[in-house]
Amino acid sequence: MAKRAFPLEQTRNIGIMAHIDAGKTTLTERILFYTGRNYKIGDTHEGTATMDWMEQEQERGITITSAATTCHWNDNRINIIDTPGHVDFTVEVERSLRVLDGAVCVFCAKGGVEPQSETVWRQADNYNVPRMAFVNKMDIMGADFYNVLDMMKKRLGCTPVAMQLPIGAESEFVGVIDLLNMHAFIYEDDLGKEVDEQEIPENMKEKAEEYRQMLVETVAETDEELMMMYLDGEEPTVEQLKAAMRKACINCDLVPVFCGSAYRNKGVQKLLDGVIEYMPAPVDIPAIKGTDPDTGEEIERHSSDEEPFSALAFKIMNDPFVGKLAFFRVYSGTLDSGTYVHNSTKGKKERVGRILQMHANHREEIEKVYSGDIAAAVGFKLTTTGDTICDEDHEVILESMVFPEPVIEVAIEPKTKAGRDKMGIALAKLAEEDPTFKTYTNAETGQTIIAGMGELHLEIIVDRLLREFKVEANVGAPQVSYKETFRKAVDVEGKFVRQSGGRGQYGHCKVRFFPIGTDAEHNYEFVNATVGGSIPKEYIPA
Ligand code: GDP
Repeated sequence: MAKRAFPLEQTRNIGIMAHIDAGKTTLTERILFYTGRNYKIGDTHEGTATMDWMEQEQERGITITSAATTCHWNDNRINIIDTPGHVDFTVEVERSLRVLDGAVCVFCAKGGVEPQSETVWRQADNYNVPRMAFVNKMDIMGADFYNVLDMMKKRLGCTPVAMQLPIGAESEFVGVIDLLNMHAFIYEDDLGKEVDEQEIPENMKEKAEEYRQMLVETVAETDEELMMMYLDGEEPTVEQLKAAMRKACINCDLVPVFCGSAYRNKGVQKLLDGVIEYMPAPVDIPAIKGTDPDTGEEIERHSSDEEPFSALAFKIMNDPFVGKLAFFRVYSGTLDSGTYVHNSTKGKKERVGRILQMHANHREEIEKVYSGDIAAAVGFKLTTTGDTICDEDHEVILESMVFPEPVIEVAIEPKTKAGRDKMGIALAKLAEEDPTFKTYTNAETGQTIIAGMGELHLEIIVDRLLREFKVEANVGAPQVSYKETFRKAVDVEGKFVRQSGGRGQYGHCKVRFFPIGTDAEHNYEFVNATVGGSIPKEYIPA
């Protein structure tokens, strides 16, 4: 077997999560600047950010897509999986949470924990995603690092551990204190490349001592050996503290907190050091569970190149240069470009034309991907978001992603007759990229209906129709598509139902439903039901 180019222990698959406007795009960009060679800093105001691939995202200043970008930091490879920040796209957030191993949560030093940060935090809780925090915008009026720590405790119910303290705030924010080494780092230039290591300023010494003490105590509480040392009055070494902190962070017991200002280029390199130090490598996370599509038996796949190939497709994008791009996360085994894989969700073969890895400012064509890696395949025809792709002789359907049904719908009509066919093709393409977007024809009125997760979601669809497909369209008033959501569905006859959709989707079968919020059980005859989804209106008894 060919040797991997990159040790798995030195790989990090992380997401950056944030409330909209907290500075996620700016931070991502700065990370790409510090990790890249010839990448230029662009203000997100001017719409030159790299992660926001689509024009309209830049105009609207929101990030919708969930692309992955690869960069390197001190002999480590970091794959950054983009997670959107707007509430309409929480499904996209879940989708990315599913394939990443850890996340950096960006908080605004002034706003702190906002409602949306709470939503995303809970989603990350559901997936047991280890997290660290970056308190951004330390340079703005009203910035208060300590208040954010407090809000994290109260609102998120987590245990934040300050790894740094800011030196000054607002326009006086000049650097950070590293509480492990007890050194001050002062930023000397605008690009944050010249960092002067100094003694902790006199007026901060007491506070730094106090917070270091808290750090040691909190970490010791998660680690028996450290606790013994602590009780014996013995001082743990920096390495011991780091190791215990890493373990606690990966266990989701503690959240290491860093601070800085992405916009002013302060604190980003230290945060990257923290990512390597505290975020898990693919080998540190539990094996992924899946099922054998034929027998329903449970299968585990470990992060190892020796196991059969298995991967999850988490994002489909129609790229102007190469056509359909399928981003996937490899859980086990390896995959060569130019070979065939099995899409176990669809029960079909797929050819892997090329494999690409996306960097800040170029795409790299690679011959082989290894377990734990994230890449994009060109050439897949029928793979959609959430599908498992695997070795044909070792079929598995990995833990599936569940997508909720759309909550809002509008009628849509092209402005010109000629636009009709074009619109149909375009809508089908968009639905292929986005499992929460649906389109259908109303049987009574013959109108084309588009359905999605919120008004903004549908606005963006209409906008993309115009920009990417040159279809001008009129839309009607939004309608709430009322559907009853159910908690679970079981086969009435109790026999195993092949999960044809791979998302807990059942083919034609009789199932029993347990609607959310009631104790009721309903027996329905169903074609294509999705667990976690909802019952189409026409099935609900009046
Ligand atoms: P996102 O919505 O989380 O991706 O946020 P952006 O990165 O687009 O940032 C939102 C706004 O805050 C932009 O105008 C940024 O220039 C600005 N911004 C981001 N980080 C900082 C920071 O550290 N300090 C200041 N003063 N502004 C920032």
